[in-house]
Amino acid sequence: MQKPESRPVIYLDANASEVPRPEAAVAMLAAFDVAGNPASVHGAGRRARAVLEDARDGVAARFGGASGDLVFTSGGTEADALAVHAFGAGRRLIIGATEHDAIRAAAFGAGILRVDGNGVADLDHLADLLTAGPALVCLMLANNETGVIHPIAEAAAICRRFGARLHVDAVQAAGRMRVDLASLGADSLAVSAHKMGGPMGVGALLAAPGLEIAALIKGGGQERGRRGGTPALPAIAGFGAVATLPIASLGGLRDRFAAAATACGAIEIGAGAPRLANTACLALPGVKAETQVITLDLAGIQVSAGAACSSGKVARSHVLDAMGLGTLAGEAIRVSLPWNITTAEIDIAIAAYSAMARRLRPGLAA
Ligand code: PLP
Repeated sequence: MQKPESRPVIYLDANASEVPRPEAAVAMLAAFDVAGNPASVHGAGRRARAVLEDARDGVAARFGGASGDLVFTSGGTEADALAVHAFGAGRRLIIGATEHDAIRAAAFGAGILRVDGNGVADLDHLADLLTAGPALVCLMLANNETGVIHPIAEAAAICRRFGARLHVDAVQAAGRMRVDLASLGADSLAVSAHKMGGPMGVGALLAAPGLEIAALIKGGGQERGRRGGTPALPAIAGFGAVATLPIASLGGLRDRFAAAATACGAIEIGAGAPRLANTACLALPGVKAETQVITLDLAGIQVSAGAACSSGKVARSHVLDAMGLGTLAGEAIRVSLPWNITTAEIDIAIAAYSAMARRLRPGLAA
């Protein structure tokens, strides 16, 4: 019997979840062997606590904060919700127009900070919004759909001028660019391990010195009373391990893919702004994003469209809508390269994309 043809499967959806780093698995297995609960006073408890605090030191150091100001959470979503709960009380909420749903849901009803056509926050608008009184501003460092990086240090200076607090969702930026709470001048950062090659289900909120973090989840007083619940020790150990790894160099492979796609008629969205080196948002005029995702998937290339909602369907992207892209917003896919991508894989993906564009865009030269 003939063997079925095997074709490579190429994962270009790292912004949904990064390819796991082997270092995380090693640390997690070791932590899984530690029997104790970090809250216990006996030897096993002390060993578990040492694992927890080593990871806390590593993650806090990676993001330019103090271990005592870091609270482990169940991921980026909870870290964002905790920030809005802890720092937004008694303040008006203002969020960027392209924030992730983690922030949009936690800060429902907030004032919306405009972005320009590249998806970059409009800082004059921020200053206008801040004249109305004490606020908590939530602005992401890098966008999950476009990779566009906001000018956080400048936004932080404006916030300080108006006595506002600034929470930064650094979930996508962490692991892909330098992220340092102190040099950004923000009040807090949300990060998530699985966007850095660590495990899913663990993240952290890191606050500037002196900021009280009022618990959202109360319980047994864990995390110094700031987040109840027994900490997910193996996952936290995996987070600690990836926090020590250097940022992967992708050697221009995103641009190699984007150049080939634009040669096929694609429009690269947000390309006029600073972006994460692993992310390209590419619209193919006249071809629905969902059709592109399915066609590429059948060719073994895994990308995503707009915001993939938890039902697996493709929802219309509020990010691309906020950038004023009109119908292109429904025709854009996100290509996000993982840390271990190779040139050979990108070239296979380029061939699949070109074949798709030729097939789905009538009139494109063969
Ligand atoms: N913030 C941003 C910018 C994200 O991209 C995501 C996940 O995609 C989250 C928050 C939520 O993080 P988590 O999946 O760890 O809950």
